[in-house]
Amino acid sequence: MNLSAGAKLKGFTVNRIREEKELDGEMVEMTHDKTGAQLVWVNNNTENKLFCIGFKTLPEDSTGVFHILEHSVLCGSDKYPVKEPFVDLLKSSMNTFLNAMTFPDKTIYPVSSRNKCDFLNLVSVYLDAVFAPKLRENPGIFHQEGIHTEINDGVPSYKGVVFNEMKGAMSNVDSRLEQELLSLLFPDSIYRHNSGGDPAVIPDLTYDRYLKAYNKYYHPSNSRIFLDGSVPLEETLELIDSYLEKFGRGSEAGEIADQIPLTNEGTAYYEAAESQNIEKSAVFAIGKIIGSWKDRDKLLAAQVLMKTIADTNEAPLKRAVLSSGIAEDFQIEIEDGLSQPVMLVIARNMSDGDSEKIKTIISDTVKKLVKECIDKKSLTASINRFAYNSKQLSEPQGLERAIVSYNSWLYDGDPMTYLLFDEAVEGLRKMAEGDGFEKLLNDLLGSYDNCALLHLLPSRSFGKELREAEEARLKKEVSAFTEEDKKANKELNEKLDKWQKTPDSPEAAASIPLLPLSEVSEKPEFIKTREHFHGGARILFHPVASHGIVRISMYFPLTGLSLEELTAIGVLPNLYMELPTENYSVLELQQEIKTYIGGIHFSLCHHAKANDPKSCTPCLKVKAGFLKENLQKAKELIEEIILRTKFHDLDKIKEIALQVDEGARQFMIRNGHMVASKAALSRYSAEGAVDEAMHGFTNFKALHALARSFDEKSKALCDAIRKVYKTAIIRNGLTVSITADEEADVRDLTDAFPEGEKLPESAEYKIALPEKMGIAIPSQISYAVKCYNLNRCGAENSGALSVSSNILSYGYLWNAVRVQGGAYGSGLRSRLNGNILCYSYRDPSPARSLTVYDEISKYIKEFCEGDESLEKFIISSIADTEPLRTPGEQGDYADSLLFMGIGEEELIRRRKEMLHTTREQLLDLCGIFDKMAEEAAVCVSGGEEALKTCEGLTVFSIED
Ligand SMILES: [Zn+2]
Repeated sequence: MNLSAGAKLKGFTVNRIREEKELDGEMVEMTHDKTGAQLVWVNNNTENKLFCIGFKTLPEDSTGVFHILEHSVLCGSDKYPVKEPFVDLLKSSMNTFLNAMTFPDKTIYPVSSRNKCDFLNLVSVYLDAVFAPKLRENPGIFHQEGIHTEINDGVPSYKGVVFNEMKGAMSNVDSRLEQELLSLLFPDSIYRHNSGGDPAVIPDLTYDRYLKAYNKYYHPSNSRIFLDGSVPLEETLELIDSYLEKFGRGSEAGEIADQIPLTNEGTAYYEAAESQNIEKSAVFAIGKIIGSWKDRDKLLAAQVLMKTIADTNEAPLKRAVLSSGIAEDFQIEIEDGLSQPVMLVIARNMSDGDSEKIKTIISDTVKKLVKECIDKKSLTASINRFAYNSKQLSEPQGLERAIVSYNSWLYDGDPMTYLLFDEAVEGLRKMAEGDGFEKLLNDLLGSYDNCALLHLLPSRSFGKELREAEEARLKKEVSAFTEEDKKANKELNEKLDKWQKTPDSPEAAASIPLLPLSEVSEKPEFIKTREHFHGGARILFHPVASHGIVRISMYFPLTGLSLEELTAIGVLPNLYMELPTENYSVLELQQEIKTYIGGIHFSLCHHAKANDPKSCTPCLKVKAGFLKENLQKAKELIEEIILRTKFHDLDKIKEIALQVDEGARQFMIRNGHMVASKAALSRYSAEGAVDEAMHGFTNFKALHALARSFDEKSKALCDAIRKVYKTAIIRNGLTVSITADEEADVRDLTDAFPEGEKLPESAEYKIALPEKMGIAIPSQISYAVKCYNLNRCGAENSGALSVSSNILSYGYLWNAVRVQGGAYGSGLRSRLNGNILCYSYRDPSPARSLTVYDEISKYIKEFCEGDESLEKFIISSIADTEPLRTPGEQGDYADSLLFMGIGEEELIRRRKEMLHTTREQLLDLCGIFDKMAEEAAVCVSGGEEALKTCEGLTVFSIED
């Protein structure tokens, strides 16, 4: 198509077209003639097509109204009058992305697909959702997604999806920290409000105010539409115009008033468990407004600067803080995506009384760095790393571009500003030659004027206080009810319940556009890996288009270690690059790495043959990505780090153990469903046992013990590391995989390792955790998991089982656990190794969810008797097997198939099975689900009170 500035197309006028090498294409900007809606298209021929509509939504309070609207518009619309078109699309489409997000000043609705027909379906449903939603006439949507009061046996409680989602979010120390710091930094600006919603404030919101907010902000004149990839432009614009043209010219949400920077200080609390040792659990944070969104170069410079002085333990500012022994961890973050981007300086695990000392240490170190200059080599290394990372977008890339474009576009700036890096990187290099970074450092941290200081303190009573305040509020609300109010509340709940339980009418269900099965390819994606052996090492090459970047993964089998030893080395991956090697100090090593390697990561992983529950292969994995021209240097560095890291400095190891312990603790609280799944699955296979030992609750307890009783426990760690080096860091049995445009020679890298004695390919492992287990965490919500393995009833994974996962996740569980139970999420997953798991996420009533899981076969029978399409679930299940993958992820995927012993034929067979799934096959699964209900292992992670409501759990605490 020949587009040029001034051209008219489907109700739009083209304003500007710019070719841009960095975007691999052009950016086309348009305005909708009638409404003034703005549109940007990044035309870059990417197969994946993305549509994203964003509204500028400026909160006036912390009721979370825009977050609740974000959920609500996806609950039915004029053309798609089903209860949840969003879920229907999850069930039926080949989307590569489908979601919506609320930010502090905007709400966005992105969808994407590789398939043109699917893409247009998705866009149509999303446009109808935002511009013609049912929420305008059905208050039940507000009550279900937002908030309502329910009275059971005389006891009132609040229910609502967002209400519970935010309870979970605010149980997280980091979310609380960010929210509290923003409110100190922006006392006069909209950014002081919690745009997601504060659970203590959400009940203030009324249906009327919510409707007003919808009418004010969801207008085309207040929208910005982003298109990316090979979208069918004319058809897409025509579709968009068909919605926009119904509106007249509206007004755009106003400008965001700038906060005049000021000095502010405050104290806030987070929930600690009754038994938690809170002596050194305070967090002290410093926030500062860096400037305006227009100061993009300054923001990038600030990012590079903070990486240079604070990203590793040996970086100068972090080293000064850690060496003082006052705080156990320290980090600096730059947050953009606000009209006034901010810097957050965070010191963790300290005594609250020590914050003045931290301030002095930071000031002294900053003065010294400004005076004596920041190390030039370190700066250059950080700029190199930054330049590399700026080119590594995660998938869907179009979504990343959309979000970043709003960093300037939302404030009426050029949508391209934040998408380009090359020129800025050159600017950073020049800046490093002079004293620009020192000046910037002085500007940002030279004094505490205009800074917000936050003391975030642990409180054993905070959780209880929140619960009591909520109860008191409910009591007050309900006791003020007149007879009429009581009646109205009863009616509201009855109506809501009835609406939730009434299935969509067949006519409504038929409104959701369905793809024919013929749109699905019979051939799954498959990377043809080349394999050869060299001196005992297995070398794999995955040919993947990767724009001159080479990715290497090395897998050292650890089958010589016992389960206890595998747990003991949990901290090992974190030691690499934070300890010196024979030829480099940590600082020198970091400089070399950042200069020559784009990214490098150490981890413990495991794999097993798909049909072998008895044994598995735990590994130490090293993964690195770098520019092709740096291959030689990268290989030398990888060799240096693995073979010549010096594990002698116990003080440094202790320091790292403390940091890892705190990180793992936060992970346990945030991701209770993952932790509970590992515990419950551990009994079913060697792989499950190893996963639990290396990454689960068992590992967390060991890390915690190591960090807190280091002198006593460090010997086991050192012994286990010695054993790793004696038995595993060898060439024999090593697998190296290369993902790149063309094969790189890694023979010299494998030759560097001693030949060694080859370990068994896999080993048997067993772990003994209770069959019904509870993990107590300080949290207002829970995660309930039930797991099973097909081996237990002599069954195998099948295409039908994969399809049933989507039927159950988006049909039964979505409705029973999320909609009716008020949990934020729930699902059923089945794995190739026979594992099946049901989980709930941010769940207010875990005991109820566990009983819901037991009724699965009943639902399957109902489904099979009903007339809901099976084909759509087949389509979405197959799409799930082929998410968009970055080149690095393609390499990992190819590795995992090889390790599982799954080849192309097997994938084709599985695809066929899925494509031809029948209702009879689904019915046959009921026996499995009944067995699962009877015998499944259970694990619930949640607050102590919630765990008491679940029967028969053996409860462990994450505290000592
Ligand atoms: Zn949400």
